[in-house]
Amino acid sequence: MRWALIGASRIASGYVIDAIRTQDGAEVCSVLSSNAERGAAFAQENAIPESFTDLDAQLADDTVDAVYISTTNEKHHPQAMAAIAAGKHVLCEKPLAMTLEDAVEMVRAAREKGVVFATNHHLRNAGSHLAIRDLISSGRIGSVLSARVFHAVNLPEHLRGWRINDASAGGGVIPDIVVHDADTIRFHLSEDPVDVVAKAGTSGMGEGVEDSVMSVWSMPSGTMVQTHESFTHGFAGTGIEFHGTEGSIFARNVMTQQPVGEIRLVDAGGESDVPFETHNLYHRALSLFTDAVRVNGTPSADGVDGIKSLAVAHAVRLAAQSGKTERVDYGGF
Ligand code: NDP
Repeated sequence: MRWALIGASRIASGYVIDAIRTQDGAEVCSVLSSNAERGAAFAQENAIPESFTDLDAQLADDTVDAVYISTTNEKHHPQAMAAIAAGKHVLCEKPLAMTLEDAVEMVRAAREKGVVFATNHHLRNAGSHLAIRDLISSGRIGSVLSARVFHAVNLPEHLRGWRINDASAGGGVIPDIVVHDADTIRFHLSEDPVDVVAKAGTSGMGEGVEDSVMSVWSMPSGTMVQTHESFTHGFAGTGIEFHGTEGSIFARNVMTQQPVGEIRLVDAGGESDVPFETHNLYHRALSLFTDAVRVNGTPSADGVDGIKSLAVAHAVRLAAQSGKTERVDYGGF
């Protein structure tokens, strides 16, 4: 499978190029950058044969099967629409788009064209989350009463830039992290939040965008979900908890790009550590994407998953602005 990278980004160089190259017969053919020099340097550093500044010229290569879009968020929609029109399979970074309407348009266009469209929600590929999901779906903690997500981190210096100061590029902790938490909660509970309340603010980093948010979501089953996302917490650590009628799951250091963390199960029988696989999250995502293209499999998170995580993030932002309970609008999905 031949790949074109749309965006000379850190997530591409840090994780996804390697994940593409671990797939049998996969190669990265080109990279697109808005800046010719940066594109050429990126291509050289990552051993990519060609760099482009013109998307149509990059997409004109008929030997390219798939694109990976990892530009800033406002570019995902036009770039995905062009790639789909050119008949390429698309792995798109989260959040899929700036608006729900744009995300819906991308997913519908991919369906009409018959190409695979996936969202790069990495967390559902983690061995830790797969183990937690198994515990919940096998009834190990009974009916889930509540869940709590701790995703308040210290945004590393090199990732600040547009994330903390550019609303027009999709900056802010809500599009950056709430989408991942929404996807993770949907993955574990197999249901979609109905409505949310939220408070957002800046606590030392955001310049014109929120850097911290807390929210509470209602699920159709009655499960209550509480989440905390931030860019400014140096020592909080991440985690997720599920509390059920028959037990509780406490997972620490699992809202991360690395295959790390600990899971503890507490029930009437006592406490135990839960083992899990420690494979690379992005390798698994790319493997499932490749299978989806080659043998009609399913990517780990598809386009509808990307629409739904974006819908929850929009509701959280709306609720933080209005101070009211906001229903989540899934755009008909
Ligand atoms: P970067 O800031 O590294 O890259 C985004 C864009 O910024 C690039 O496309 C590039 O533009 C431009 N850029 C990169 N380096 C420089 C530089 N030194 N000077 C000026 N401009 C530069 O973003 P991330 O890799 O952190 O994020 C990209 C996308 O991936 C986002 O949508 C984000 O939400 C998502 N993401 C997803 C993660 C996941 O695990 N699923 C993790 C991290 C990010 P150009 O291409 O025009 O050269």
